[in-house]
Amino acid sequence: MPDAEKTLRDERSNLIHQLAELGANDDGQLRDDVSYGEGFADAAAATAERTEVIGLVDSVKVMLDNVDAALERIAEGTYGTCAECGKKIGKARIEFRPESIYCVNCKAKS
Ligand SMILES: [Zn+2]
Repeated sequence: MPDAEKTLRDERSNLIHQLAELGANDDGQLRDDVSYGEGFADAAAATAERTEVIGLVDSVKVMLDNVDAALERIAEGTYGTCAECGKKIGKARIEFRPESIYCVNCKAKS
């Protein structure tokens, strides 16, 4: 399924770019050299900003993990089947979310 792989690789570089813009590395760790103190009137505002950035980084990291898991399944040759029950994942679902590794039923259960 080469189309899915291309989509996933594009998505992956996009997500890594987002992490870099948020000041995080590929592992979702914020770099120490990023300062959140500048431009804020007080430390509380800076902390709130940092907390928000950490939340954003976490959600990007989750998406990145999903993309990596799907790419791994392409490499294994198991892409397109559910990682939980082994059934085929619906075509519409795969096209809508190429990073899906669970069928709709198993995803709903988790
Ligand atoms: Zn399933």
